[in-house]
This record gives sequence, structure tokens and C-alpha cells, in this order.
Amino acid sequence: MIISGRELQGWRQRAREGAIAAGIPPEEVDWLLRELEECSALTLQFLVDRPSLDLPVSLSELERLWQCRLRDRVPLQHLVGRTHWRHFTLKVSPDVLIPRPETEILVDLVAEAIGQNPALAEGHWVDLGTGSGAIAFGLSECLPRGTIHAVDSSAESLAIARENARMLVLEERIKFYRGSWWQPLSSLAGKISGMVSNPPYIPSALIPQLQPEVSQHEPHLALDGGCDGLDAIRYLVETAPDYLHPGGLWAVEMMDGQAETVARLLEKRGQYCHIRIVSDLAKIDRFALAYRQ
Ligand code: GLN
Repeated sequence: MIISGRELQGWRQRAREGAIAAGIPPEEVDWLLRELEECSALTLQFLVDRPSLDLPVSLSELERLWQCRLRDRVPLQHLVGRTHWRHFTLKVSPDVLIPRPETEILVDLVAEAIGQNPALAEGHWVDLGTGSGAIAFGLSECLPRGTIHAVDSSAESLAIARENARMLVLEERIKFYRGSWWQPLSSLAGKISGMVSNPPYIPSALIPQLQPEVSQHEPHLALDGGCDGLDAIRYLVETAPDYLHPGGLWAVEMMDGQAETVARLLEKRGQYCHIRIVSDLAKIDRFALAYRQ
């Protein structure tokens, strides 16, 4: 679709104004244009100098997408069907949680743990509630000699995770299973070197108060952690000692305000040592780590 730079600049300006009026960051207009491939950041800076641009979509299609963003609060990642996480480009849909930047740190923490204890790198690692597969892909890179198992209870999300694995040429590195938490992994009881999870952790009553992008467009299965948000984390604290070998790592993401309770749950279970809380870049206590005794 050939249009002039001036025409696109006009649309971009109106779209930015619409964003500001709707309380959406105006930078998202450029994000959308860049994702539609033909527009690099540099092209966008000098649009009016471009006599013609070959866009993969028409201006009216662009406008239709942008109206979905403004009116229906559809996340931009859903409009373009993908997101960027660590250095991966991942397909996303309403069937999977959009991987968040803070979750990237969970993989760094695993890499750090392996640096301190290289023996952990050899064994079986699990990503429970894999969603788009993001954590499993991160693990496969910091564990070149490990076996990665990724579990999710949703068939739709596993289809996306498998597709992402294919695109990233990582399908040989990761075994995918459909099931509830450890259930497909019973043969690995006592043999697992590391469990990593970004489980649902939002208290049910808080979900309607989240941004509409999240509450109306992301899967509640991946968000809703029950009454106090800790149902899944409590379950993982309780059950992981049966699956981790002594010295195995337990690592989860959680919500602001949950750290103290999660640390107490880990202590009370009596099977963990070196319990540690780590904050994200916004200084929110976001991750809990522990080792199987
Ligand atoms: N971090 C997500 C959010 O902010 C929640 C993810 C989760 O529940 N695991 O909405």
C-alpha cells in the first residue's frame, strides 16, 4: 500500500492526540507503526521528507487497529500479535499472558544461581504455567546442557508456546506438557534441579480493578490467584519438595506485598533453605527463591 510520508504523518499526529485524550502513552503509535515493519524509528522521525512509503496495511486498516486500541483497550501486543521479551520475539494472543519485562529478571536469577552452583545446570528444569513459553525459552539459553520441561493447563496456550518454540528453533530443547502443575511430571519426582514459575498471583477481587487491557483482554487463568492471590504459590511451596532434588532451586514471581507471606510459607514448610526475596527494577519485592534442603 503506497502512501505519502505526509499522509502518514497526518495520521500519526491525529493518532497521538487520540492516545493522549484516552490516557494511552502516545509512543504506542510509533510502536504500532514500527511493528508493521516498514517504518523504522528513523523513518518515523523524517516522515514528511518521504514522497512515498510502501506500507503492508492501508491507512483505513491502521485506523481500524488504532480504534481497537483506544476504544476497546486491546493491548498493542494483541493488535500486532507479538511482543519482545529478552531478545526473543514471541507470538501472543488473548490465550496467554503477555510476558512482562520484570519477568526477564527471573531468568537472570536462574543464570546467577547456576553461576554459583554449576552442577545445577545439568539436570531437569521446569517452567510451570509456561503461557507463551517465555520463561522456558530463557531457561533453555542459560541451561545449554539441561532438559527443560514446560507445563500449562491450557491447550490454547500450549499451542502458542509450541509455535514460539518452532519459530525460535528451540523445539528440540523443550518438552511441552498439558496438565496441572506437576501432574505430567510425576516420573521426575525427586530429580528436578530447578522449578521456575510466574504463577497467577493477583487476588480475585483485584482483577476487575486492573487496567482494562489486563482485566478484559488477558486470560484470568494466568492472573487469578484466588482470594489472597497466593493459592498457586502456596501449592508450589507445598508440593515442590517432592519434586526437587536436595539443593534444587525454587523460584517464583509474585506481587507487591506478598514477599513476607511467601517467605514465611517457605520457612514453615521446613524443607527449604537460603530463602531470598529479590526486587524488580521498580524496587518491588517481586521474586522469591529458595533451595530444597
Ligand atoms: N504481572 C502480571 C500483571 O501485572 C500478573 C501476572 C501473574 O499473575 N502472574 O498483571
